[in-house]
Amino acid sequence: MIPLSKPEFGDAEARAVADVLKSGWVVQGPKVEEFESLVAARVGAAHGVATTSCTTALHLALVASGIRPGDEVICPSYSFIATANSVMYTGATPVFAEIEADTWNIDPADVARRVTSKTRAILAVHQVGLAADLDRLKDAAPKGVPVIEDAACAIGSLYKGRPVGSSGNVSCLSFHPRKTISLGEGGMVLTDDAGLADHVRRLRSHGASVSDLDRHGAQGLVYEEYRELGYNYRMTDIQAAIGIEQLTRLDDLLARRRAVAGRYNTAFCKVEQIQTPAEPAYATHSYQSYAIRLRPDRRDIRARRDDLMRELVGAGIACRRGIPPIHLEPLYRDRGLVSLPVTEAVAADSIFLPMYASLPEPDQALVVETVIRLVTR
Ligand SMILES: *Cc1c(COP(=O)(O)O)cnc(C)c1O
Repeated sequence: MIPLSKPEFGDAEARAVADVLKSGWVVQGPKVEEFESLVAARVGAAHGVATTSCTTALHLALVASGIRPGDEVICPSYSFIATANSVMYTGATPVFAEIEADTWNIDPADVARRVTSKTRAILAVHQVGLAADLDRLKDAAPKGVPVIEDAACAIGSLYKGRPVGSSGNVSCLSFHPRKTISLGEGGMVLTDDAGLADHVRRLRSHGASVSDLDRHGAQGLVYEEYRELGYNYRMTDIQAAIGIEQLTRLDDLLARRRAVAGRYNTAFCKVEQIQTPAEPAYATHSYQSYAIRLRPDRRDIRARRDDLMRELVGAGIACRRGIPPIHLEPLYRDRGLVSLPVTEAVAADSIFLPMYASLPEPDQALVVETVIRLVTR
């Protein structure tokens, strides 16, 4: 079976973990600090604050941006459910906006239509590693309403030639095994705002005024104080040590993912029944995932999406349906019906294919050949 994705760990990661275990400091400490600086420098943000996941990073980014119960946050429904859940944790309401039919990213024109007097943030998602159009989103946001970036899939992806994470917006990364680099679980808040970074640092560790590392390094006795409700969202030094090694591989992993996508695109763009991933001039895709869409206007497609998926699995090729829209999940549907025709149509006809850096060339060829045969035969 060709898997859908695969984390890329080697001996260096195993040695780094062993070194941390031997050092005796395993919780959030010097390795986390080092990893934060390296990631922030790599993506061009002034500060990085590591957390347990992108979900918890998003939660803290929203809290530190002042999002409270009763507020509205505009976000896409065509995303992993964590995007909207992070808004719900704050007590605010996610307001779902449409996506563009070509990029599958949040549509700035539709965002503008959904702004109300309660809108306090726009939560943009860089869909599977393709940057959303941040400048147009900024124009769509009312004055003083920030754009926050769910960059879970977008480490190494570019917007107008600059890395995602360097926009000056607060943005959040994921290090889950489905993403380009992984530490098992992990996330990070990126920001240029030193005050916001400090606030996120306190919030991730129960709201304590002094971190364990600072207390450990201080001369004499230092006591922490708790002034607001915080959380335990701390990354461990074990994870950060893996992350430091993973970062050294990032450029190579990105190049190999783009090579796989290039082969897929070249083959599939010749097939009229298939829509390949868009890559507008303002973006360089990091291909955290690779999805195609069966063109709904073509009658001559032999297999519809679900048949195609069954047949691919039968041929030993793992695949997944396109992202299930959040507004159709019972948790959100029961809070009020919304109609998002573009989102629903893209979700109904799209399919994720195997994508990871070390996907062998014969497997890539088998995916291409099998998909084309099943769609066009
Ligand atoms: C994976 C993902 C998340 C959640 O990341 P975790 O680190 O698993 O919490 C959030 N948003 C998007 C768009 C994702 O793809």
